[in-house]
Amino acid sequence: MPHILIVEDEAAIADTLIFALQSEGFTTTWLSLAEQALAEQQRNPADLLILDVGLPDISGFEACKRLRRFSEVPVIFLTARSEEIDRVVGLEIGADDYVVKPFSPREVAARVKAILKRMAPREVAATPVPQGPFQVDSERVQIHYHGQLLSLTRHEFRLLHSLLAQPERVFSREQLLDGLGVAADVGYERTIDSHIKSLRAKLRQVAAAAEPIQTHRGLGYSYSPRHA
Ligand code: CA
Repeated sequence: MPHILIVEDEAAIADTLIFALQSEGFTTTWLSLAEQALAEQQRNPADLLILDVGLPDISGFEACKRLRRFSEVPVIFLTARSEEIDRVVGLEIGADDYVVKPFSPREVAARVKAILKRMAPREVAATPVPQGPFQVDSERVQIHYHGQLLSLTRHEFRLLHSLLAQPERVFSREQLLDGLGVAADVGYERTIDSHIKSLRAKLRQVAAAAEPIQTHRGLGYSYSPRHA
């Protein structure tokens, strides 16, 4: 059973979440401080974190940034204010979803299920790319570039995988976002651009002069074997 770590300082809110999640068959751990949660996730990693933004020690945003240094575990934020949503969906934070308080605990449980489902290894519509400098291993979720293993985040892997599967096809940002299993929401264009930027930086570390991901202004991005 997937294990969910709830990080929330209000016991009443945590209780309703624990109840809703356990009713759906999840196991749960509840902590009220971000620092405790980070330590716990290193010791005993949960499958998903539900993280309150307003915590007594450090903010949920800061906690998520620190978490991302060592973990790609999915995160759902609990925010008290809808103005925070822009930051939550922004790439700088690296969250997978958010809910605004007050929320329905059943709705949160449904989102947890949805995220874990889309995280599950997909039936590989196996599109290996033996040609060119890329080697995609969908089962291991690895991509080698010029023989070097790329250290990719989950989103970067999916993004690059989508592009490589159809060389020269120009993907719109919306199509790429769709491939990530993320809803097209506020700021999605910026999200894709940020992923592409960090992906390119990683590719350049292997081959500085190559530009395998091409930008098509006003349209999107493509993989160009000629530039790889
Ligand atoms: Ca709080």
